[in-house]
Amino acid sequence: MAPEKQIREYDVVVVGAGNAGLIAAISLQKAGKKTLIVEQHNLPGGCASSYVRGRFEIDPSLHELASVGRPANPGAVRKMFDDLGLDIKWCNVKDCFRAVGKYSDGTPMDVTIPSGRQELINTMESLVPGTRKKMEKLFRLFDEVSDGLDYFSDKTEYSIKYAVKHFSNMMIVGSHSCKTVFKALLLPQKCIDILSTYWSYLGVDMGHMSFLHYAMMVRSYMDEGAYIPMFTSHELSVALEDKFRELGGEIWFHCRAPSFLFENGAVCGVRTMYGDVKCRYALANVNEDIVYGKMVPKEIVTSRLRRLSNARKQKYGARMFTVHMGLDVTKEELGIKDYSVFMMGSADSEKEYKGIMKGFDSNEFSIFVCYNVVNPKASPEGTCLVSITTFGSPVDWNPLKAEDYARYKTECAQVLIRKLRENTGIDLEGHVEEIAIATPWTFARYLGTPEGCVYGHETSGWDDIISRTLQINKDYPVKGLRPIGAGGPRGDGYSSAYMCGELMADIVSKELDGMEAGDEK
Ligand SMILES: Cc1cc2nc3c(=O)[nH]c(=O)nc-3n(C[C@H](O)[C@H](O)[C@H](O)COP(=O)(O)OP(=O)(O)OC[C@H]3O[C@@H](n4cnc5c(N)ncnc54)[C@H](O)[C@@H]3O)c2cc1C
Repeated sequence: MAPEKQIREYDVVVVGAGNAGLIAAISLQKAGKKTLIVEQHNLPGGCASSYVRGRFEIDPSLHELASVGRPANPGAVRKMFDDLGLDIKWCNVKDCFRAVGKYSDGTPMDVTIPSGRQELINTMESLVPGTRKKMEKLFRLFDEVSDGLDYFSDKTEYSIKYAVKHFSNMMIVGSHSCKTVFKALLLPQKCIDILSTYWSYLGVDMGHMSFLHYAMMVRSYMDEGAYIPMFTSHELSVALEDKFRELGGEIWFHCRAPSFLFENGAVCGVRTMYGDVKCRYALANVNEDIVYGKMVPKEIVTSRLRRLSNARKQKYGARMFTVHMGLDVTKEELGIKDYSVFMMGSADSEKEYKGIMKGFDSNEFSIFVCYNVVNPKASPEGTCLVSITTFGSPVDWNPLKAEDYARYKTECAQVLIRKLRENTGIDLEGHVEEIAIATPWTFARYLGTPEGCVYGHETSGWDDIISRTLQINKDYPVKGLRPIGAGGPRGDGYSSAYMCGELMADIVSKELDGMEAGDEK
């Protein structure tokens, strides 16, 4: 429904009600900034949502949410929701995942990665005897990296001298990949293979993944565990929407914003389906390539920004292909014990990633999830809810013709179901009551991301999270406008998008306060 015609003027307009947009809007409204969200769909959340097929409610994205932590020792995400007074029913994921496939030397691998640093160190010692001390050293390095990154992220101004003194090891490993650091720490290859199974969460192989990013992620999963909300990620997004409204914020749903408006080189408003809206600042929960390529006049984009965008465009992060199924049997009847099973051709992530990018026929990677293992109420009694997810390659999806789409996605789903049976013995044949297949085309359509990427640009090499964090002042030169979300300085994933929204809102709020102080003078 269109909002009533009136003079529409806000401090900030947030385009997109994804994870980053919702948290940013709440933070701004809390800081006293009159904020409007415009969202093209009829419900909040972006990836963090749900839809219904028959008697099943399906979460389109979330497998594991990091940084929730236990009630007694809350992580950043739990604190965020608790501080807002939002009562989320969190379900704990006991083990991180089971990894089934082959070690890089070709021998069979079947390892369950437990949650908890001591548990992982013990598991590693039992699988690769003699690694305890090295693993303890690795975790000490994770701790230093995490503290160091907090130091840099919390400030727009920092002291390199202070960082060298307190985070010297982080400064040494800072620019290196996981592969290089693991080798430098003289970890045995089998131990590296096991640690490498985490690569898919960031969608970057270990030869390119920043060690800092990996350290932050694995430390969080180990020390804080992983969680899912009992009522799908829709529960999170509607709770945030309610909170935003309670704080006096306004949301317009079913309202696309095609472009930003400028005056004297700075944002002065947002064009929306319901007319132009004035604002002093705009946040775009939209992929940067769309923002700078389609939503901003060419003359506004500085040459540095154009070069940065062009360089990033070469590497979109993960595009997903996922098959959700409601089954007419219980998990016990199918012999399902694990919440999440990673199936891989090889623990050599570089080989695996190359296979994925070459196309579906050479892709050996997929993740099976059975939601009922963590949340017995995930589906009606006598049923269970499962998904199989893999990465989609542009080689398959970009040239695909519309008339071949339905056939091709169905064939891919059938292959994944067959591979599940071959890898784990779990046979879904004859039990699929509901099925929904989401492809890179689906994500492109519903989120508006280029090529259906859901992780923004790949966080690797010169564009990893440390360089994004350190360049936070330079990388956003368009006055009054900042893209936010999975493509931002914190990288992809729910927790990263929330934190990015909070960080950017804080920067914007201070900038607006500074402008007001300037006006008063
Ligand atoms: C299959 C799958 C599995 C995943 N698994 C996990 C997981 O287990 N754990 C995890 O942490 N992360 C996971 N992720 C990643 C995670 O979902 C995303 O990184 C994160 O949710 C992205 O949030 P975002 O804020 O960037 O916004 P998005 O979710 O991309 O939302 C952007 C919003 O902006 C709106 N929008 C865009 N353009 C416009 C416009 N012009 N006008 C108005 N509105 C607009 C869109 O409609 C959308 O609502 C998964 C993703 C997928 C797809």
